[in-house]
Amino acid sequence: METIKGIPVSPGISIASVVILRADDLRIHHRFISKDKIESEVRRFERATRRAARDLDAQIGSLGDELMIAKQVLQTHRDMMKDPGLHRDVLARIEEDLYSAAYSVSVVLGEYHGRFEKMESEYLAERAHDIKDIERKLLLLLLGKRREKRQIFDEDVVIVSHNLTPSQTASLAKEKVVGFAVDVGGRTSHTAIMARALQVPAVVGLKEISRKVANGDTLVIDGYAGEVIVNPDGKVLSAYRRKAKYSERFFNELQEEISWPAETLDGYEITLSANIELPEEISTALEWGARGVGLYRTEFLYESGVPDEEMHLKTYRKAVKALRGRELVIRTLDAGADKFHEEFVGFEEPNPFLGCRSIRLCLQKPELFRGQVRAALRVSVYGPVKIMLPMISTVEELRHAKEIIADVREELTREGIEMAPRVPVGIMVEVPSIALIIDRVADEVDFFSIGTNDLVQYSLAVDRVNEHVAHLYQPAHPGILRLIKEVIAASNRAGIQVSICGEMCSEPAYVLLLMGLGLRHFSLSPIAIPTVKRIIRQVTITEASEVAEQCLNSEQASESEVLLSRRASKLLPDFF
Ligand code: PEP
Ligand code: MG
Repeated sequence: METIKGIPVSPGISIASVVILRADDLRIHHRFISKDKIESEVRRFERATRRAARDLDAQIGSLGDELMIAKQVLQTHRDMMKDPGLHRDVLARIEEDLYSAAYSVSVVLGEYHGRFEKMESEYLAERAHDIKDIERKLLLLLLGKRREKRQIFDEDVVIVSHNLTPSQTASLAKEKVVGFAVDVGGRTSHTAIMARALQVPAVVGLKEISRKVANGDTLVIDGYAGEVIVNPDGKVLSAYRRKAKYSERFFNELQEEISWPAETLDGYEITLSANIELPEEISTALEWGARGVGLYRTEFLYESGVPDEEMHLKTYRKAVKALRGRELVIRTLDAGADKFHEEFVGFEEPNPFLGCRSIRLCLQKPELFRGQVRAALRVSVYGPVKIMLPMISTVEELRHAKEIIADVREELTREGIEMAPRVPVGIMVEVPSIALIIDRVADEVDFFSIGTNDLVQYSLAVDRVNEHVAHLYQPAHPGILRLIKEVIAASNRAGIQVSICGEMCSEPAYVLLLMGLGLRHFSLSPIAIPTVKRIIRQVTITEASEVAEQCLNSEQASESEVLLSRRASKLLPDFF
């Protein structure tokens, strides 16, 4: 039995046997070829190595001399792509064994990898990672955008992995996957968000769990405490079975409160809307008490390639219909960084979180943006929708995006297509540069939504998916609270709505603080709605304001964290 500590990202307890998912495993569907395909497979392989070498050359060229070590590593990769030994070995597999190009690459590089891994010298053993990298690059090129198949399991399992992309998390069959335990990541990584959306207990940042457990091991995932217990003994197992039952009871009790209003003791109502990734989540979100959808992350619509306008429209209509008159906030494509980076950006970036993501990508590829905007405007005849622009960091970007939206509207009018006379356009406040000049943009938008996941990441210079700096990811940092306060003040002055859609508002400890800062609209993971509502119903805005004032005046996040957890554990004794 071993207990491993990580970061809790999705509440609940699960107990099941382990299935290890190798995130790097790109599934190869066609392993064998017929004789008449030999020539074309050889050509495919040669093309892939040439393309990979070109990409690597471009990457090397973009690095300055101060990054000599990185350059050297990439040069080795590039040389490897041209290595006659590699070509000889792969061609032999294609020509003699009739393996497909992709399968030959994976077999040959798999053998190289095994040999390097066994080497005594640490330096040479490290090169095994390089081989993996080269294999991955080639396979990605050879397999194109082919998707991994949806996994089907016969019995309940917990998935253990070094990393999980959001699309992998989404593609895991919901019914039988009862937990996630992942080596890397933090509270607001998109994998964590997906786990919460799927209502599956999850712990991330477990560092080496994927190497420590084997398929078939029994695992307890404690999504409250952020602990994972490998092969628990009888006593521990029965204690967790009791805890699992207890947590189920807590959620059942909360369900009875679902129709109650989210109103404070002194009569202030807080609107609780849902963050969703797929329209299919709406019915559950409404069951959990959501008033509408405050953040629809449309990226997941692009999972199988760029959707055309009709596909956008069909999906948005489904969402609008499911909401039956409640509001839908459609966030335009926020791809890049940890969400579908390879598929959209098309080139590697040294720092994707600061790179060509989100609105930047949309403005660079307007055809990508226009189709989505056309559908968002068209769907407005079926119910109330708003358009939300992510990652706005400058006024120019906002104006540019708004110009495109206005242009699309004119185009639709010319085509005689019906739309609602007004579709509000707002922005996410998630980059510090825009939060700091918020008064200058307040007159140019219809609403603000504070995206604390990224706002914290960019303000504190802490990668939201890096477990090594997770302790520095501090939503209650006084600097963040000041930014939030300023954004609220500017929106009140301009008379526009301000909401919060970052994960911070789904964490019980921060609810009182955010209300005290002046927020009245929360958009959060549907599963968290009943818990947050229970807090709201037990407090007054006066006491929330006092708490917020104390936190704003504290020097460090840790002081506020102590105060906030103490308050929250009194309000939710069953939860903590
Ligand atoms: C945020 O950054 O707070 C946010 C809600 O957007 P996402 O998590 O999709 O980046
Ligand atoms: Mg964001």
